[in-house]
Amino acid sequence: MRSFSPDVDRRTFAALLVSGAVTLSAARAQAANPLSLRMDYAAAEALLTAVKCRAITDAEIDALLSLRGTRAMVANTTKYIPEDTSEVFRTALKEFVATRKVTHGHFGISGIAEHEADARAAIAALQADVALTAEITAPIKPYQPATGPLVATIYCVAGGVSDGFVLDGDPEPAFFMAIERSQGDVDGVKLNMTHELYHVAQRAARARAATPAMRGFNQSSGTLPVRLLTTVLEEGTAVYVSEPMLAHGSGPYISEWRSASARNRPAPVIVANFALFDQLFANLVTGSMKWEAAYEKGFSNKAPPLYFVGYEMAKAIDRAYGHARIGAYFQEHPATFFKDYVALSREKPGAVLAKFSAETERRISFFG
Ligand SMILES: [Zn+2]
Repeated sequence: MRSFSPDVDRRTFAALLVSGAVTLSAARAQAANPLSLRMDYAAAEALLTAVKCRAITDAEIDALLSLRGTRAMVANTTKYIPEDTSEVFRTALKEFVATRKVTHGHFGISGIAEHEADARAAIAALQADVALTAEITAPIKPYQPATGPLVATIYCVAGGVSDGFVLDGDPEPAFFMAIERSQGDVDGVKLNMTHELYHVAQRAARARAATPAMRGFNQSSGTLPVRLLTTVLEEGTAVYVSEPMLAHGSGPYISEWRSASARNRPAPVIVANFALFDQLFANLVTGSMKWEAAYEKGFSNKAPPLYFVGYEMAKAIDRAYGHARIGAYFQEHPATFFKDYVALSREKPGAVLAKFSAETERRISFFG
């Protein structure tokens, strides 16, 4: 965790060096893109109550499923485990209420009951935090994409397969946080909220891109190489933007993020991460690898190496070109992020810690 502090300090120092003109334009950009939050705890509270019951009717389960947060939690589970539908959720919840055991589905119902006290304490802490919106949005504002006025809803949910998630194709600017998985780590929950909120801002900006061709990029669409570029851009910048929040707290989420960052910080690891990108990108361009395999290698463990490729790129670009450049990528082709990094690494080799292979650089030049 100590390894994190110097970077945060350097970034603060870099911000002080930014010229007055840039500061003014960043302030104007923030004024044009006001960001606010709405909290919705209904789904988490309802399911925390339901798992304590000794009997539950279909009508009561229907009421649970009428809540947007519960529906989203179920839909996100179905996305990863297609057989886990809302009917399986109904069966699993009834089974748990009757027997205190679950043999159906992967909705984490016994975990909700197990962590009920922690979850309620976390909700109470979030509700009592009068500075919550400011804390969650402050790290984003310098890097905010051109979202226009944005009111994002954070749905606190319970259960499911993800700690935090955004629904594919969601017309509402919203994301979902499984509160019982936080083990009471409220600082970590806030960090995850900032990370997810940055994804919501990325999407909102995309939807407003001047050119229709620039509106379609997301982590679930595009050709496989473009999907890789998009995922590295979106995740890397989200990790970079929320990094200052690692300075506070000591719970499990914060510790996990800190150790992921520490593991990906040594220069040889950064070089290996870029080499992994080279390999996965080449495999996806030539069609010799499926998306799932690339995702598994690049993005899916506890210290996902390609998150930290995007993080290193964002850090170097931020220092060289300023905060506003980061926010602007979400209305451009995702390859632009990579082209800028390649250009920077040629112009100022000392500004980057790792380079892409000549083959990747050549291939990138054909995109966008
Ligand atoms: Zn993310």
